[in-house]
Amino acid sequence: MSTYNPYDDVLATITRAADILGLSENDYAGIKYPERELKVSFPVRMDDGSVHIFEGYRVQHSSSRGPCKGGIRYHQDVDLDEVKALAAWMTFKCAVVGIPYGGAKGAVKVDPSKLSHGELERLTRRYTAMILPLIGPERDIPAPDVNTNGEVMGWLMDPYSMMKGYAVPGVVTGKPLDIGGSVGRLEATGRGVMINVREFLKKRNETLAGKTVVVQGLGNVGGIAAKLIAGEGAKIIAVSDVSGSIAKPEGLDIEGILKHLSTRGSLLKTYNAEGLKRLSNEEMLCMEADVLVPAAMQNQITPGIAERINAKLIVEGANGPTTVEADKILESRGIQVVPDVLANAGGVIVSYFEWVQNIQSLTWDEENVNSHLNRIMINAIEAVYKMAEEKKIPFRTAAYAIALQRLVQAKHIRGIFP
Ligand code: GLU
Repeated sequence: MSTYNPYDDVLATITRAADILGLSENDYAGIKYPERELKVSFPVRMDDGSVHIFEGYRVQHSSSRGPCKGGIRYHQDVDLDEVKALAAWMTFKCAVVGIPYGGAKGAVKVDPSKLSHGELERLTRRYTAMILPLIGPERDIPAPDVNTNGEVMGWLMDPYSMMKGYAVPGVVTGKPLDIGGSVGRLEATGRGVMINVREFLKKRNETLAGKTVVVQGLGNVGGIAAKLIAGEGAKIIAVSDVSGSIAKPEGLDIEGILKHLSTRGSLLKTYNAEGLKRLSNEEMLCMEADVLVPAAMQNQITPGIAERINAKLIVEGANGPTTVEADKILESRGIQVVPDVLANAGGVIVSYFEWVQNIQSLTWDEENVNSHLNRIMINAIEAVYKMAEEKKIPFRTAAYAIALQRLVQAKHIRGIFP
């Protein structure tokens, strides 16, 4: 078996969407390649006085529809192909929901749980200095992703602002409220996932009340999605984090679990409650449920798992959790998948609102943020659903086709420089 390369999966998905649209290779060739790839190596002074060299990346996949946009992740396993795939997914995500951005992604190869708070701050500041020539509110705007958060965004905003000589909040999104963050941004990705679950069930004349839901991953996406989905009356029957999975057929106490996890360093394996069953990751993914929300990492639903999945609907909270081969198996088994580029777009949609507020020096209230998020998400869901029905194609292909059409059109209107 060949080794998994997420960028190959991106290309395969783009090609399938291009075939549906009847595009010739010439029309979309440019979209197959990232516009810019930056790899950096940089030193960080560790607490014990030693100097450690870290490797980082920033990939700008497309700026055809607007400034490049996308998060920064800290993870020990990242490589350039993963960042390229993540950057391309951002391009398609922004295009399918119709916000005026291209796509980018950044990463540092590091396990942040092994660093002290001070080391993490120095690493972030130096990484920011290394990618400084590429970023800016009008060219490329980072945001949180796996293992990064509002505090890290503050450490990104600061070097950029110091270099300019004045505060530039619009250079990053997902910031704390005190330095220009937006209300609703922290919950936005999870809220978007909940909206997708709710709306796609509605298409089947069903509601969330009483539904059984499995959520893989309890970070910013999975944790909030689980809470909001439970709030709509569904039963979260299994959840997981890096330390393991737990299940309870009557429904888990999500608030209690999130409270337990909120202490730094605390994991699911030390959470205890009556009637809990501990499972392997595979057992959890294959549980019988109405909805499965993979909200951890890419490459989780592989062909072997796809054969045994027992959920009726999959809503992708993570980026790239399902491989192309697994997708084909799910399609043949009639299991519908709401793709990442649609399902987890809530985060970047509210990042867009944050950036708009920063540029205009205004603040929106939560009602305004959430109602606009709801409207943009529902419009995108309707468009994807309609195309999937009309062309008898999976939601992923429909979402990519809509996005690709917009990208091709933007490139066509702008033409080729010079
Ligand atoms: N990291 C998030 C994502 O993958 C958010 C990106 C952003 O807000 O720019 O969609």
